[in-house]
Amino acid sequence: MVYLRDQGEIEKIRAAAKLVARTLEMLAREVKPGVTTADLDRLADAFIREHGGRPAFRGYRGFPASICASVNDEVVHGVPGRRVLREGDIVGVDVGVEMEGYYGDAARTLPVGAIAKTTAHLLDVTQEALMEGIRRAQAGRRVGDVSNAIQTCAERNGFSVVRALVGHGIGREMHEEPQVPNYGPPDRGPRLMAGQVLAIEPMLNMGGPEVVTQPDGWTVVTKDGGLSAHFEHTVVVGPNGPEVLSVVDRE
Ligand code: MG
Repeated sequence: MVYLRDQGEIEKIRAAAKLVARTLEMLAREVKPGVTTADLDRLADAFIREHGGRPAFRGYRGFPASICASVNDEVVHGVPGRRVLREGDIVGVDVGVEMEGYYGDAARTLPVGAIAKTTAHLLDVTQEALMEGIRRAQAGRRVGDVSNAIQTCAERNGFSVVRALVGHGIGREMHEEPQVPNYGPPDRGPRLMAGQVLAIEPMLNMGGPEVVTQPDGWTVVTKDGGLSAHFEHTVVVGPNGPEVLSVVDRE
């Protein structure tokens, strides 16, 4: 079942997604050497609640925290804890918010202090791949057009795309249909329609695309130990093209 949202619903998703974006912006200021991932989780949890949202990840299928924080070779779903961030690390922070029954979801991978040039390139390309995917999220196109744009951008730059995890529809639930893979041929998959809302979220690896889940049952890491980056936006397929909802208003 694919849902088409009316303007009132889109505004509710926008409110949730905007709070996600503000939370990510706050976290970007707080990430520095010496901070633990549990510190980031506490800050995000308080910030979301202060602004009228509910951290959507906490308790989701039993997830024990309000954000995911994935360091270096951790791809996604890292559980915040006592790990101390060090100069040169990267940390992927993934935030979900529910407000008035609607969801927003977005993620960024943040540098901890100064990072290596090759690492910065991975972050830049992952963000670029996300924007390439978003550009294809147009009514009349297909999910595979989004997927293919992401994969093409990643591989053109020498990185690999994680296959085991995908983007998704979002709205009244955090995860709705359709699945939005980050790889595959163009002009395949479900056709996109105006009013659909998608969470598009490429995960790019420095080495191979294979991933494994850690014994904690959550943390997904690269099999070869290489670095991984993750960027995500909540996007509405508008009548006049895609619009990113997980952004902060600029004055
Ligand atoms: Mg997501």
